[in-house]
Amino acid sequence: MPTRTPITVAHGDGIGPEIMAATLHILREAGAQLDIETIEVGEKVYLAGNSSGIDPSSWASLRRTKVFLKAPITTPQGGGYKSLNVTTRKMLGLYANIRPCVSYHPFVRTKHPVMDLVVVRENEEDLYAGIEYQGTPEEILALKLITRPGSEKIIRYAFEYARQYKRKKVTCFTKDNILKMTDGLFHRIFDEIGPEYPEIEKEHWIVDIGAAKMADTPEAFDVIVMPNLYGDVLSDVAAQIAGSVGLAGSSNIGDQAAMFEAIHGSAPRRAGQNLANPSGLLHGALLMLVHIGQAEVAQRIHNAWLKTMEDGIHTYDIYEEGKSKQKVGTKEFAQAVVDRLGQKPQKLKAAEYSTTPMKPIKPSTKPAPKMELAGVDVYIEWPSKKPPELAAAIGKASGDGLTLEMIANRGVKVWPDGSPETFCTDGFRCRFLGASPTLKQTVALQDRIAALGLQITMTVNLRNFDGKSGFTLAQGQ
Ligand code: NAD
Repeated sequence: MPTRTPITVAHGDGIGPEIMAATLHILREAGAQLDIETIEVGEKVYLAGNSSGIDPSSWASLRRTKVFLKAPITTPQGGGYKSLNVTTRKMLGLYANIRPCVSYHPFVRTKHPVMDLVVVRENEEDLYAGIEYQGTPEEILALKLITRPGSEKIIRYAFEYARQYKRKKVTCFTKDNILKMTDGLFHRIFDEIGPEYPEIEKEHWIVDIGAAKMADTPEAFDVIVMPNLYGDVLSDVAAQIAGSVGLAGSSNIGDQAAMFEAIHGSAPRRAGQNLANPSGLLHGALLMLVHIGQAEVAQRIHNAWLKTMEDGIHTYDIYEEGKSKQKVGTKEFAQAVVDRLGQKPQKLKAAEYSTTPMKPIKPSTKPAPKMELAGVDVYIEWPSKKPPELAAAIGKASGDGLTLEMIANRGVKVWPDGSPETFCTDGFRCRFLGASPTLKQTVALQDRIAALGLQITMTVNLRNFDGKSGFTLAQGQ
């Protein structure tokens, strides 16, 4: 008797219970070895007063099985309800979001007949760290946080995924022509790790033109890895242009646990009518089967599903008069897949999964660089908005090894030699530099600034690492 893998299942809301029943029926009939624990998440839990949509007791199941197959849920209207996806991602440390986007021409209508790409999105960092501050009446800041270990993990995951699924190319999207340090690090790590995968082609695109190319010519891409925000936007674009939102699945992978789901929502208007397409959740479940070492079962199901597509047995969302053969409901579609287990598609490319498990992603081993303090940026609220006046006022705090070097507004240098045309708001950044100042000297500087009656809104220490500047110059500096 093969060992069964424990998994946690949530049947969700709207069409969730129907597509989950269909998916589990196919998995069972294909011989997936699963030990299922069921939990309740979503609307009922929210409305019972739990703002996270999941009961504390359900975490015990997730921590035990570490594998979560989740049907879509409905987030009730109105404020105060936290996104269950974000909560699960953060609680379980699910750092990688994987979304394969494939078109099934000529069986499903699409503008891109040969599209077959996978978006690998970093899931925990970037602007999604949610670190925001209001500094002045006019100015609010958000921190874009990119770390070396976080970037190494996701980029290595993209390459391991490419190897596992016999993909030929990994593309990296960043905006490092502008964000030289954060996106620059992501790009640099891509260039560092890439050579460890000599059989895989590598390329980098600036995200704007890369996104345009992807929307226009998706067949030019294979696996695309990107930081969180670009990945969030572009994985939706990729899924949409592939054909139907009802078809794609996705996985969220962490070191300890993983979550698998359809990319679409709970489609409440279609609920309870045996109408919904279960394919998105089924594709999520296939990623799960590979993750838990049951790739052979995944391959059998995937090929039977491709054959069902080819045979024109379609749910309403992809049914097309003249092209499709039979319009079926959720249950009948699932049965059609079951009836084709053991068959392969004739025209579409057959699925081929490697049974060698994917290598675990190792943590970073790079030694910590040598750090040296170079100065401090002091953010000041200055309602009169006149840089020379501010320079005269704050310049009095220079001394004790730290000198006012420049003042910037919205990233642009406005003193010395600012351009009179530059529009200023009430938030200024005053940069003080010195020759290896101590932390104490930077703190004493802030005391002197406060004693001058100036309003400090934020300070950031300026540091060099291994002799290289750890901060950018202002525009125009
Ligand atoms: P949706 O994805 O539920 O529906 C968008 C459109 O696609 C609708 O016309 C729907 O009928 C159709 N559709 C979606 N899935 C389908 C399927 N499997 N088969 C056939 N047609 C399908 O998006 P929405 O209407 O914006 O959101 C509905 C609810 O789902 C909201 O409460 C939203 O918060 C939630 N939601 C949940 C998740 C999740 O749980 N991961 C993701 C997105 C939205």
